Amino acid sequence: MHWVPMHIKGQMGPCGIICADCDLGNGMVAETAKRLKGYLTLYGVEEWARLLPGGDEIDFKALNKALSWLAEYMGCQGCERGGGPPDCPIRLCAREHGYELCSKCPELEGCTKFNWLGEYGVQLRGKLLEARGKSKEELLRGLQGER
Ligand code: SF4
Repeated sequence: MHWVPMHIKGQMGPCGIICADCDLGNGMVAETAKRLKGYLTLYGVEEWARLLPGGDEIDFKALNKALSWLAEYMGCQGCERGGGPPDCPIRLCAREHGYELCSKCPELEGCTKFNWLGEYGVQLRGKLLEARGKSKEELLRGLQGER
């Protein structure tokens, strides 16, 4: 299991995503960007990339900049600490209604706010429906027991 930053431990979004299981929340994405940037430098990839098909079309300066940006900003703080996509309709709606988890909402079954997450959103909603009546702590404990 990936190392979990302290600020993420015990956090769960109202959508039911466990932050420790999310690679944005557990730092994997930011760490990967940082490492990739390091590897590109370590192995001098820019120097010989032009010898490979399409390699001369890569803007390594822009890539480097993008990786630095990802390393800095992709370490999500979790919804409870103001992280996550700022415009997530699930979080905004749950907050407005005062629900820690959407499983407390009577409108969950027909809720369309999960649609932007596609099939993953359908799964999350299904799990929350099954979890009706349970607190966030009970859910986290139960899911940890599954692993
Ligand atoms: S309507 Fe209910 S289930 Fe849907 S996002 Fe808002 S709080 Fe969650």
